[in-house]
Amino acid sequence: MELISRNPATDEVVDTFDVHTPEQVQGIVARARGASHWWQAQGFDGRRRALRNWRRYIARHRHELIELVHAENGKPRVDAALELLLSLEHIDWTAKHAGKVLAPQRRRPGLLLANFAARVEQVPFGVVGVIGPWNYPVFTPNGSIATALAAGNTVVFKPSEFTPAVGKWYVDAFEAANPQVPHGVLSVVIGFGETGAALCRAGVDKLAFTGSAPTGRKVMAACAESLTPVVMELGGKDAAIVASDADLRAAADAIAFGAMGNSGQTCVGIERVYVERPVRDQFLRHLTQALVGVEPGSGKDASYGPMTMPSQIEVVRRHVTDALAGGGTAVVGGLDSIGDRYIHPVVILDPPHSSTAIQEETFGPTLTVTTVDSLSEAVKLANDVPFGLAGSVFSTEQADWIVERLDTSQISVNSVLGFAGMADLPLGGRGESGFGRIHGPEGLREFSRTRAVATQRRPIPGVNLLSFSRARWLNRFAPHLIRILYGR
Ligand code: NDP
Repeated sequence: MELISRNPATDEVVDTFDVHTPEQVQGIVARARGASHWWQAQGFDGRRRALRNWRRYIARHRHELIELVHAENGKPRVDAALELLLSLEHIDWTAKHAGKVLAPQRRRPGLLLANFAARVEQVPFGVVGVIGPWNYPVFTPNGSIATALAAGNTVVFKPSEFTPAVGKWYVDAFEAANPQVPHGVLSVVIGFGETGAALCRAGVDKLAFTGSAPTGRKVMAACAESLTPVVMELGGKDAAIVASDADLRAAADAIAFGAMGNSGQTCVGIERVYVERPVRDQFLRHLTQALVGVEPGSGKDASYGPMTMPSQIEVVRRHVTDALAGGGTAVVGGLDSIGDRYIHPVVILDPPHSSTAIQEETFGPTLTVTTVDSLSEAVKLANDVPFGLAGSVFSTEQADWIVERLDTSQISVNSVLGFAGMADLPLGGRGESGFGRIHGPEGLREFSRTRAVATQRRPIPGVNLLSFSRARWLNRFAPHLIRILYGR
């Protein structure tokens, strides 16, 4: 079977691929397992060198990859370049810090086994499968792939059917940058959902998935058959809370970008705003102003590109229709903003809380703005969705109060998306947004298994609790020991 990748702006063919069969996927995972011992034996220093070679190679050939991301995903070249910049920062960080973060730690053996030394080691899983999305076809899978590699795993990557050429280029770049590395340290499998399902069942030791919650459930079910652990980076419905003491112009500027950038196809993009009533109208004026000239397109001046996945356009239309039918008012754009490929910015004021535009991931350049009478109401409504990925807070005095109460895993204060650009910070979700962490020290630990080692340094004759030859007085003494140690 063939997979034809097309430019979402023009339908031109970008590339054609043979789809990997489940047997081929198994073979590729077996090859990754074969390369695993070699990769682990390189240690942190050897892996750091290989990752840096890769980073350098991608940076030197950046124009090719930027062109490919632009062609296959549709985003403007400048956004492709920014995505690349962030990805290289993450590769660099993870290469540099893996050794320190995953170094063995000494632990206290405790009084009962004081003649032992104790330590905790972080060991690689072996082969990690990564199933990636199309919205940030380099940055998002890279968050799992670079981290898993740095932690000593080999990786088999299944890119989205919408961005296979980007996925293949990124994987080929690793081998091109490291001709001494055996095949199989980083591999790609190409195909549709069935290929992803085959990867889940091909004997990987851990699976990192980014995509929608319904597919995440299928991936978990497939991995459950072999008790393969998973990391789930799923969708979001991120809210921004704008307090009455916020710099409203700056808030509107940031929110306009957070909502519409990348055509709104960002898991941590802003989809909802809760703004305090006294500043609502002023905020809306700034927001409308910030969106003047924000236009989708494919040319040099485009603010963002076409919708990458055609079926998403219907999701956006359904949510906008539902919000307007429920009594929301379109203050920027409207149903007419939704075209065949491009969607112009849409802002809807006060749709019902139960509408799909508030409760489901829209993944398009749309935003709801809800008027609230207090920050408590804002927090309550912001938290009242099944997702819990990230959020934003705009306030000069109340930011900490709001941060403490927002039930999300990442928060930007007086900004949007800031946390995703910091390689030292973890990223992940809760609820329908998934679980587990990629990026940062937490990501490195996510892609390694914890091993506890207890070493008896010297035996204490007769007092060995872990032997049938222990002194008989110990049997009488043990109940007293309980009272002495813990009875107070
Ligand atoms: P999916 O969740 O369906 O796909 C994500 C990845 O999983 C793709 O590589 C896909 O392959 C693969 N896949 C699909 N079916 C299976 C399966 N049964 N077993 C294993 N892997 C599978 O997302 P979509 O791309 O269809 O987008 C749907 C929605 O997901 C969007 O509308 C958006 O709301 C959300 N989304 C969230 C993202 C995030 O960053 N959290 C990213 C992308 C989407 P293939 O593409 O070949 O079908």
